[in-house]
Amino acid sequence: MTLVIHGATIVTADAGRRVLPGDAIAIEDDRIASIGPSDQVLAAHPGAETLDGRGKAVMPGFANCHTHFGLTLSRGIQEDFSFPSTLRFPKGVGEYLSDDEHVVMAQLGALESIRSGTTAPFEISRNIEVYAQAMADTGLRISLGEAVHDLDQRKAVWGDTFEFDDARGEAGLEKIESLHSKFDGAADGRVRVVPAAHAPEAVSPRLLRRIRDLAERWDRPSTIHLNQSWWEVEAVRNTRGVLPTEYLFQHDFLWDRMIGGHCRCMATQEIALFGRAHAVASFNSAIAARRGYSVRAGDLEAAGATLVMGSDNMAEDMVEVMRTGLFMERVRTGDGERPTPEDVLQWATANGHRALGLEESGTLEVGKKADLIVVNTQRAHLVPSMRFVSAFVHQGTPADVESVMVDGRWLMRDGKVLTMDEPAIVAEADRIGRRAWARLLEEYPDVPFPITLDTRNPGVD
Ligand SMILES: [Zn+2]
Repeated sequence: MTLVIHGATIVTADAGRRVLPGDAIAIEDDRIASIGPSDQVLAAHPGAETLDGRGKAVMPGFANCHTHFGLTLSRGIQEDFSFPSTLRFPKGVGEYLSDDEHVVMAQLGALESIRSGTTAPFEISRNIEVYAQAMADTGLRISLGEAVHDLDQRKAVWGDTFEFDDARGEAGLEKIESLHSKFDGAADGRVRVVPAAHAPEAVSPRLLRRIRDLAERWDRPSTIHLNQSWWEVEAVRNTRGVLPTEYLFQHDFLWDRMIGGHCRCMATQEIALFGRAHAVASFNSAIAARRGYSVRAGDLEAAGATLVMGSDNMAEDMVEVMRTGLFMERVRTGDGERPTPEDVLQWATANGHRALGLEESGTLEVGKKADLIVVNTQRAHLVPSMRFVSAFVHQGTPADVESVMVDGRWLMRDGKVLTMDEPAIVAEADRIGRRAWARLLEEYPDVPFPITLDTRNPGVD
C-alpha cells in the first residue's frame, strides 16, 4: 500500500527545520518512502493512491509528554482552584468511577488528543491496566507511565505528616511489572510501558532507585512531577533538607532520559543542576498559566535541558499548549522575538518523540514512521499562507487538523475519528462526569464548594 500526498506544504521538523511548499510525501505501509517535488515523487510511485494536498500542510504529530487522560473528569472545575487544589474534598472524584467508567474517561482524553493532532501521548497515572487495552485500540503511539509512590498522601496533604511505607511502594512496582508484561510492545510496538515516580515529596530514595533500575533494564525513559508547587518545595525541604531537584540529583534520579513534569517552582541552582544532567523538562504551559505559575523555559534550555511540551490535566490540546508556551515565555522575558514558532514546534514534535525514546517518529524524514497530521491551511485565520508554522502556532486551532495518521494508518480522516465511536464516548463521558461530581457533592455537603454545577441536567441522550 502506497499513498502519495502531493502539492502540500511539508513541515519536516527535521534538524534543518525545513518547510517544503508544494511538495509531496509518499507513505509505503507504515513508513515514509520519499519526500520531494510533487512531480518526482508521483513519478516514482506509479499506481499509488494519491491525495491532493493543495491547501494542506503535512506535519509530524505532536508528542504530549505529560498528560492524565482520566482527569478530563474535572474539566471546567479544577482549572480554577490552583494546585494543590483549594477544593478540600477528602476523596477524589475519580473514586466514584467504576473500571468501565475509567475506560470511557481515558477514551475521551484519547479522542481529544487525536482531534488536536497528537500522535504520541505520554499517559501518566495509576492503575493503567484497567484501560490499557482501550488505549492500544485507539491507534495512538502511546507511552503508558504507571506512577508509584510510597508516601501516605492523605496524611501528608491533610496533616502535614510524611509517612513512607515500603509495602505501598512494592505494590506500585508490581503494578508496573504487570502492565509491562502484558502491554509493553503491544499493538505492533505502538504501546510502551514506562516506569514513573509520582513526585519528589511522595517517593523515598529507595523507591526512586527501584524505578530508575526498571527504566534502565527496559531501556525506557522515566518521569516525575517536579517542582510543581511551592507546597512540594517546602515538603521536600522539610523532609529531605534539600530542594526537589537536588533531592533527585542526590539519589541518581536526574539523567538525560528523565522527563521532569512542570519544572516551574525552581531555584536558579536547581535549573543549573537539571541542565547539567541534560534532563528533559516538560513545559506544561497551559496548565501552568491556569494555575498562575510561570516556567523559566528558556533558562532551562540554556542550562542544557531538553524542552518538550505537555498538556497535563483537563485538556489534551497541544495546539493551545504550543501557543501558550510561546506567549508565556515572551511575557516572562519581555522578548517579543523569542521563542520562535519554529522553536516551539520543535519542542512539541521532534524533541518530545525523542524524549519518549521514539526515535522513529517526530520528524518527517525518509525511513521514519508515518506518524503525521494533515492541516487545512485555507482557513480565515490561517491565510495568507506563506509562513505556515508561524500562522499555525499563533492562530491555529485543533479544528484545523483534518486527518491524523500513525504507523501509516488513518486514525482520523477528513475530520472523522475512525478508531473510536466518538458520539457514544462523548455522551457517556458527559453522563459519567455529571454523576461522579453529583455523588461527591452529595457525600460532602459541608466541604466549601464556591461554584455551582448543573449536575441535575441529564445532558443529551
Ligand atoms: Zn501531572
